[in-house]
This record gives sequence, C-alpha cells and structure tokens, in this order.
Amino acid sequence: MSIQWFPGHMTKARRQIQEKLKLIDVAIELLDARLPMSSRNPMINDILHNKPRLIVMNKSDLADPDMNARWLKLFRCEGHAAIAVDASTGSNVSQIPVEARKLLEEKIQRQIAKGMKPRPVRALIVGIPNVGKSTLINKLAGRSVAATGDRPGVTKGQQWIRVGTEMELLDTPGILWPKFEDQEVGYRLAATGAIREEILNVEDIAFYALKYLASQYWDRLAERYSLEQPPVDMDNPDEILNIMEDIGRKRGCLMGGGRIDLEKASGIILRELRAGKMGRITLEEPYSFMVE
Ligand code: GDP
Repeated sequence: MSIQWFPGHMTKARRQIQEKLKLIDVAIELLDARLPMSSRNPMINDILHNKPRLIVMNKSDLADPDMNARWLKLFRCEGHAAIAVDASTGSNVSQIPVEARKLLEEKIQRQIAKGMKPRPVRALIVGIPNVGKSTLINKLAGRSVAATGDRPGVTKGQQWIRVGTEMELLDTPGILWPKFEDQEVGYRLAATGAIREEILNVEDIAFYALKYLASQYWDRLAERYSLEQPPVDMDNPDEILNIMEDIGRKRGCLMGGGRIDLEKASGIILRELRAGKMGRITLEEPYSFMVE
C-alpha cells in the first residue's frame, strides 16, 4: 500500500512521531543506502531536534560498497553516528543496539556513578515508506511483530520489543514523507521502487536511470545488455534513447512495424535494476551534496 501524502497527513505523521519521541532515548533514522539523501525526510533535523540519532543505511546489500563507505564517512564527518545494514538478511543489524548504547554512554555512566542501574536504551525507527522499517523491526525482534505496509493514519497500541539486554524498541515505526519538490529526487525514489511508478512516467524513470547508469556504471550496463559503445555525449537524449531501444530490441520488446515498445523495455530495465541484476548500484554520490 502506498501513501498519498497530503499536508494534513504530514502534520499528523509529524505529531505521531513527536509523541513517540517523548518515550525514547535514541532515534534510528533509516535511509536507503542506494539513495541516502533522497530517501531522507526533508524536515528530519527539525523533527528529531536534539534527540540522539543513529543513521542506519539499509539495503546496503543492493548499494555500491565503495559508495556505502563514502556515505558513512560523510555522515560521520557531519558528526552523526552511522552504520550500514541489510535488514533482509540481518547483516550488521546486531550493531544497532551497540551503536545506540554508545550514543548514551555518558548518561549511562553518570547513572552508574550515582549507583543507579541503567535501563535498556529505548529506541524508535523512523523513515520514509519502503525503506525497510518493518523488516528491520522484525529482524531486531527476532520474530514477526511489525506488519509490512504503511498506514500513517492508523494508530494502534504500541509495545516495547526487547532487543537483547541493551535495547528496547517501539514496535511501530515513525513513518515520514519523502521529498517531493525536487524532480530528480522523485526519479531516484521511483527508480528504486520507493515511490509508486504511476506518479511519474515509467519511460521517464527508466530514461533517468539509464542516463545515470551509462555515466557511472557503463561496464555493468554494457555487460548486462551486451551493449557496445558508451554514449559520446551523456547529455544528448538521443543517445540515451538509443540505448533504451537497443535493450528493448535485445529483449524482444517489439510492436507492429518493427517499432520498439519503450514502455516494456523501461519496465525490464527498472525491474532488473531494483533486483540488483546489474550488480550493487548507488544512485547518488556524496560529493554532489557536500557543497550544499
Ligand atoms: P517499510 O515500508 O519501511 O516498513 O519497508 P518494508 O520493511 O516493508 O520493506 C520494503 C521492501 O524492502 C520489502 O520488499 C523488503 O523485503 C525489502 N527490504 C527491506 N530491507 C531490505 C534490505 O536490507 N535489503 C534488501 N535487498 N531488501 C530489503
């Protein structure tokens, strides 16, 4: 299920998260490692305010390992605690309680010094739809507690899930809206399947993805679809379109009169990209944001 984010929904989602923030010590900001900036809520700093925060880049199994390292470095340079995980297999997920506790270490040491017995760190997972919140909650819980699918308007009783001895996690995540105002962000989100295709034209999304792949991951693209020549001018739309047609031809996406069915070809390209068939790909690079 996909959410239609109207201003009223955003206000409601924000209020719900702010209510939950009162109950917790650490916010776990879940991002998609393939697009760590575009999968970020535009008002996150404002919403989380001074709450200690752990940035968790999920789906790192689908993202470029070199880029994962560079993004982590950037977040850490900005003063955030940040790790990369794969919630579907659970890889590195055990680091989450460890890192969450580290963020509160001073407070915990003060409590110990006063003779108090520190309670487990209380945490909340926040993130945009489809980033893997429910998958991660279930993985941390070691069982199925969070239903996948997003319903920001529905509130149910929330419960604490015990994660080892160190952490307690709210079983309902905070659901945040993605950025809408920037069209490039929209294409990146759609290319990974984070927002529904119907909002944008499937051929436009595939065109955007192809252009990026041709400039950043030409070898992978060429190998997957047996392409011969990289475009001479990446900014020439005809050259990108030629690649799309070439892929369509090779995959039998034909219409009457020998024309290529670009919609079908686009669907294939996007499906294969999302499934990792071209290898591990990251759709945005850290340096393009560093100057902001
Ligand atoms: P939510 O909307 O944020 O709760 O996202 P879900 O937990 O429902 O996950 C959305 C989709 O992403 C599901 O198909 C998951 O199987 C998939 N997914 C979640 N985490 C990962 C991950 O780390 N790696 C991969 N490859 N897929 C993931």
